[in-house]
Amino acid sequence: MPSFLGDLVKRIQNYIDGRFVGGRREFADLNPADGTVIAQVTEACEAHVDEAVHAARRALLGEWAQIGIRERASRLHRVADAIEKRFDCFVQAEVADTGKPISLASKLDIPRAVANFRVFADLVKISGLESFQTETPDGANALNYAVRKPLGVVGVITPWNLPLLLLTWKVAPALACGNTVVVKPSEETPATATLLAEAMQDAGLPNGVYNVVHGFGPGSTGEFLTQHPGVDAITFTGESRTGAAIMKSVAATVKPVSFELGGKNAAIVFADCNFDEALSGLSDAVFLNTGQVCLCCERVYVERKIFSSFVEGLKRKAESLNPGWPNHEQTDLGPLISAQHRDKVLSYYRLAQEEGAHLITGGGIPKFSDNRNHGFYVQPTIYTGLPESARCIKEEIFGPVCHIAAFDSEEEAIAMANDTKYGLAASIWTSNLKRGHRVAQQMKVGITWVNCWFLRDLRTPFGGAGLSGIGREGGMHSLNFYSEPNNICIRL
Ligand code: NAD
Repeated sequence: MPSFLGDLVKRIQNYIDGRFVGGRREFADLNPADGTVIAQVTEACEAHVDEAVHAARRALLGEWAQIGIRERASRLHRVADAIEKRFDCFVQAEVADTGKPISLASKLDIPRAVANFRVFADLVKISGLESFQTETPDGANALNYAVRKPLGVVGVITPWNLPLLLLTWKVAPALACGNTVVVKPSEETPATATLLAEAMQDAGLPNGVYNVVHGFGPGSTGEFLTQHPGVDAITFTGESRTGAAIMKSVAATVKPVSFELGGKNAAIVFADCNFDEALSGLSDAVFLNTGQVCLCCERVYVERKIFSSFVEGLKRKAESLNPGWPNHEQTDLGPLISAQHRDKVLSYYRLAQEEGAHLITGGGIPKFSDNRNHGFYVQPTIYTGLPESARCIKEEIFGPVCHIAAFDSEEEAIAMANDTKYGLAASIWTSNLKRGHRVAQQMKVGITWVNCWFLRDLRTPFGGAGLSGIGREGGMHSLNFYSEPNNICIRL
């Protein structure tokens, strides 16, 4: 068996038809904490992508098609076991690639990847996927029943912020439904998708069921995959702009798409909230993973009565965060993913000033006495005083930053929170549950939390409205997307 684990820091290759495959073109994988090169990654050319798609097609029609749901589910549990067996290795790879604190990778990213396989393995077993529906609508002339089939070869394209978590969120249900996959992880974070190949081998998945191609988006691996006529569907998580480009690209071959895109999420904090809980919740919602979670909150609306004390409280939270080395247990704020992304975030810090913001804290780059100065850290940042029309209020920044504005009435808060082209997530903080329900139901988003944030049950629908996405995944929503019914009608 080819071993990737021992060589992790040196060379990351594509994984096609059960083999690790090198190539002529390579790109560097950097550690965002100090800018050092941690690996050379093989960029998949068009021929590699073609090979991967053909391997996935052969696997779709081979042994994988003969394996029943129960056996498929049991192999997915074995994939989860195989990840757990390599837990530390996955954690280290994710920390090195993303710069996220080890506490986060070991408590969130990797356990959630394990859970993704276990949840969808169990769900597909109880869903009755093979004979999804039996109907005789008029009860007389015909018996109708529908069988659900896999979509075929699914192209999976994912971002860098929660690399393995988001990749397995799509791969697990796709495989549970009997599809085969060609995945393209982000060029910034290629390691854990490649490690997963070993877990797949360990779990006894036939060659070609899981393939990995590395590279970039436009004019590279991502585009080769979306345009490939042998790919039957695309599931994508990333920026809204990229979603739009992929939509154009798949149009010619009419592929179904599932899109989980960007956000500009709001929180509404009422004066009757549990102040300390709201403060802790919002501190996570703004700064977790250095603000690089699609669900993070960049717009905070606080009832005027508690505005000043809330701003002061969140400032204290921001200033207490420790921008340490990712591998230190005490670190709670890692770097941004790349120099390019840091330039983008810093350009918004400057823009906020130009747009007339009042800086409460942060706004720049922290100074260190070691090599973290070569990494991509920024200060956690809070602004107030911007008009709602400001670009910093309208555009996703994707960093550890928020703007806090005051409101006087529930209606005003709802109107401001909904005044966005995005529609991913919102959170409401109040001790009045009636108001919690009332306001939550008026949010134009895919998920609204009341008195919490990022509390997830993987069986519930997940996705966004507007620029935040197309479709829902999670639980049966995923199984519905990754399979399609064939209705069979028998005349009685
Ligand atoms: P991105 O869109 O730049 O890249 C995502 C993936 O798409 C990468 O693998 C990239 O190589 C690929 N890609 C880029 N252009 C492509 C093209 N033209 N054709 C095919 N593939 C292409 O996003 P990112 O910067 O990696 O991630 C951050 C974004 O992801 C943020 O906007 C964030 O809100 C969003 N996100 C959304 C969710 C969600 O569930 N809604 C979750 C995480 C992140």
